[in-house]
Amino acid sequence: MKNYKIYDMSQPTYHNCPAWPTFAYPQVTNEAVCGNDGFTAERLNINVHTGTHLDAPYHFCIGGKTIDEITLDKFVGEAVIVELEGIINAKEGIAVEHLSAYEDLIGEDSIVLLHTGWDKKRSFSPEYYKDWPYVSRELAEWFVEKKVKGVGIDGFSVGGWYEGTGVPAHEVLLSNEIWALEELNFPEELLEHMTCILSAVPLKLKGLSGSPTRAYAIIEE
Ligand SMILES: [Zn+2]
Repeated sequence: MKNYKIYDMSQPTYHNCPAWPTFAYPQVTNEAVCGNDGFTAERLNINVHTGTHLDAPYHFCIGGKTIDEITLDKFVGEAVIVELEGIINAKEGIAVEHLSAYEDLIGEDSIVLLHTGWDKKRSFSPEYYKDWPYVSRELAEWFVEKKVKGVGIDGFSVGGWYEGTGVPAHEVLLSNEIWALEELNFPEELLEHMTCILSAVPLKLKGLSGSPTRAYAIIEE
């Protein structure tokens, strides 16, 4: 068997962790605690678009595929890691030009992972909550032309927070059955690589628009 290294690309989910600005904060309540009940079991009350998670077409498209209807092969595959930290600004749309150095690596069934540096800013700051860089409409259309499998980003969403910036990326990607993977985390050591194998498999949540995901990268050594 080949040697390989695994890098965790997920942000933690916990009680009152950062979550989409208009949703209720994630809640964890104890239903049983070992010292009192003989075992521990918690209830987790979260929107499915919380922490590192996937968006299915149904998130923005009436009649689109729900998260359980997408086959697992779509969530595992060769990925290109695009380094934009220090290149892209807050509130800025990521353009096709920003990916020019990666163009030859991106093709049919590629997964594109966009690192803006927002993973390190995860907190309740206005910068993290509103100002993340996002996928512009033209870049989303370029991903459709390239026939990529999915697009991941480290901010809250592939779309931006401000007026007119949130919908285009979602509509263009999801209506073409390209999933979005949001609130990723990029370990420093992983960023030394331009490519990896990504696995980001959702829970089998019937009829829902997204799912929390444990995303990780595999690098062969
Ligand atoms: Zn989402």
